[in-house]
Amino acid sequence: MALEGKNISKDNITQKCYMCENIATSQEHVPPKCLFPEQKDTRGIDFKKNLIKVPSCDLHNTSKSDDDEFLMLSLSGIITNNAVGQFHFLTKSDRAIRRKSKDFLNKQILRNHKIVNLKISEKEFKPISIGYPNIARLQSCFEHIAYGIYFHEYKTKFVGEIKIFFGFLEYEDTYMQTLKKFIKKKFDIEKELKLIKKGENPLVFNYEFQKPDKFGLFSVKLVFYGTTEIFIAYKPQSVDKPFDLVMELMNNGIKTIINLEDENFEFN
Ligand SMILES: [Zn+2]
Repeated sequence: MALEGKNISKDNITQKCYMCENIATSQEHVPPKCLFPEQKDTRGIDFKKNLIKVPSCDLHNTSKSDDDEFLMLSLSGIITNNAVGQFHFLTKSDRAIRRKSKDFLNKQILRNHKIVNLKISEKEFKPISIGYPNIARLQSCFEHIAYGIYFHEYKTKFVGEIKIFFGFLEYEDTYMQTLKKFIKKKFDIEKELKLIKKGENPLVFNYEFQKPDKFGLFSVKLVFYGTTEIFIAYKPQSVDKPFDLVMELMNNGIKTIINLEDENFEFN
């Protein structure tokens, strides 16, 4: 146990998995390597500089499953992505879709998928796909990323609870929607405090950790392809406060309004 947290590449010691107590047998990329464009597609521009890797057991190495490809198809196709994301969708993701059966997109990525024409200017329309994303599978993918990015940042395994919010989704549940906006706003405010943005291929992926608040809770913001944001809230086991006070208050039927700068967030 005392060896946890040592630099893995330099010390020739047995490593434990980033998610569990098993001995690590391989390295897992965080986030998955396939999200980063390949040089054969980018005419030599390198978007895979110093990718993050963490020690992993067989069970928690998702690159051994097809979750990585699922994540690539789910994230790279988001319409608001920067040019790198759109390009990745038109190259590697497109090749992956062509290898699949016709109804793959509908069944696996966007349920009730259909094509609609989006007006992008007075005369121009662009066909886009709309549908319901596979939230449960996205959650599972980001749970791995949450543990992985924590391990990379703090050189030890995270023990506690996590919650994931997809900034690019509109939640039907008003509580989730408000909480998502609330967390996003907290990051926007802290921008002025100059949180350190990390990630050596920022046009593909970057992230910033918040300092723990007075309860020991903290979050990380992950940004894919310039605009697609995911927020992960961490509650370490050592913190005995409720995961979030707002939820606790709400569960007890107490109307709760939190004011951040000039904006009110109402939970009830
Ligand atoms: Zn494991």
